[in-house]
Amino acid sequence: MIVPDIIIAVDGFSGTGKSTLAKLIAEEFSFLYLDSGALYRGVTLFAQENGYIDGDNNIDLDGLKAALDKGLDLHFGSDGKTYIGDRCIEKEIRSLKVSSSVSPIATVPFVRAFVDDKLHYFGRNGRVVMDGRDIGTAVFPYAQLKIFVVAKPEVRAQRRFDELAAKGENPVMADVARNLEERDYIDSHRETNPLRRAEDAFVLDNSDMNLHEEIVWTQGVIQGKFGILE
Ligand code: C5P
Repeated sequence: MIVPDIIIAVDGFSGTGKSTLAKLIAEEFSFLYLDSGALYRGVTLFAQENGYIDGDNNIDLDGLKAALDKGLDLHFGSDGKTYIGDRCIEKEIRSLKVSSSVSPIATVPFVRAFVDDKLHYFGRNGRVVMDGRDIGTAVFPYAQLKIFVVAKPEVRAQRRFDELAAKGENPVMADVARNLEERDYIDSHRETNPLRRAEDAFVLDNSDMNLHEEIVWTQGVIQGKFGILE
C-alpha cells in the first residue's frame, strides 16, 4: 500500500500499546518512528542523575531550566535508541525509577517546550509516525492522521508488567498498576497540553486485538481517509 507523505500521531494513556503500534506502522509504510515519551524520560533521567529532582519528586526548577538552557544533547541515534551525547540511555529510561518521576517532570512548561522543539525538528520532513500524549492536540495538531489508542486497565498493567520483566526488572504488579494510575491522573490533569483525544482522532480499542489486527485496522483507516484502493 502506498501511503502519502503524512504525519501520523498516535496518542493515548500509558501501556495502551501505542509505541508497539506506532513502530509497526513505521515498519509497514517505511515511516520514521519517533517516541516522544523517550525524550521526557531522557530529561527525567538527566534530572535524577544531576540532582534536579529528589525521591519525593520535588523539582529544582531553576537548576533544571539553567541546565536545559545550556543545552542537553538528547537525541535518537541511527539505531533508533535514545542517547545523551554518545551514551545510550535506552535501558535506564525504561526503569520504574524513571517512570515514577517522568509525569511530574512532563508537567513543567519549559520541559515541554524543550521536548516540542526537538520533536518539531525531528519530524520536519513528514513521513513520520510519532507516539505520545499530546501529538495530535499540541505538537502536530495538523497531523493528517490521528489515532487515539485505548485498552482496558488490566490489559495495560499486564503489558507494562511483561515489558519490565522482559527487560530484566523484577516488577510487582501492584506497583506497576499504581504507577499507571498515577501517570494517567497527572498526564490528563496537568495545565500544559494535558492528555486528551483530539476531536478528529480515530479511536482504537486494542484490548482484544493482536498486532496483525491492529495493522489491518490502521490500513483500513488510511484507505478510508485517503481513498487509497490498494
Ligand atoms: O509514552 P511513555 O509512557 O514512555 O511516556 C512517559 C511519560 O512522558 C508519560 O507518562 C507522560 O507523563 C510524558 N509524556 C508527555 N507527552 C508526550 C509523551 C510523553 O507528557 N507527548
